[in-house]
Amino acid sequence: MKTIFRLIVLSAVSALASTAGAANFRTVVIDPGHGGHDNGGQWGKVYEKHLALDTAVRLEGNLKRMGYQTVMTRRSDYFITLPQRVSVANRCKNAIFVSIHFNYTWKENVSGLETFYYNREGQRLAQYVQSSLVRQTRTVDRNAKFARFYVIRNTNLPGILVEGGFVSNERERTRMKSAYFRESIARGIAEGIQRYRRAG
Ligand SMILES: [Zn+2]
Repeated sequence: MKTIFRLIVLSAVSALASTAGAANFRTVVIDPGHGGHDNGGQWGKVYEKHLALDTAVRLEGNLKRMGYQTVMTRRSDYFITLPQRVSVANRCKNAIFVSIHFNYTWKENVSGLETFYYNREGQRLAQYVQSSLVRQTRTVDRNAKFARFYVIRNTNLPGILVEGGFVSNERERTRMKSAYFRESIARGIAEGIQRYRRAG
């Protein structure tokens, strides 16, 4: 009985902690998708893993200027497993989790930005980030959507996974190659995070 009671108390406390943490977070865990032998989406010499890392570093710069602390799951072009990414995130307190990816499909005309979430706080965060992203980049809005991607399903933090456009779409691929566009994505994500935090 005692153990069961303690479990109930503990889960109540952790539920409270995760709600409070949503508004009071100071740290953003940034997770650039893929890396090393895992190139992600690829078209010619344009690799998703490079775009994701560059955008993540730019996001880190934006967030630091706003006074946030940041944790990167990878800092250069090496492979890191999905469970490793999750364990980096789950070691952090008062934090949110942002995974950065770029999309790929065989339908070359498909374009636009989308932000995925798994839990309820993730959904709120995703909605703020998606609307800021679309405003900053002036691109097609594919909306904030539910998905069961491993990293957002397994982190204890409010988490999102941003898909910053399609490597397989010629027009978007051309934009992605410019630092200015990758900076707009970083700025859009940072602004969305700020709006989410201020909304409490
Ligand atoms: Zn990806």
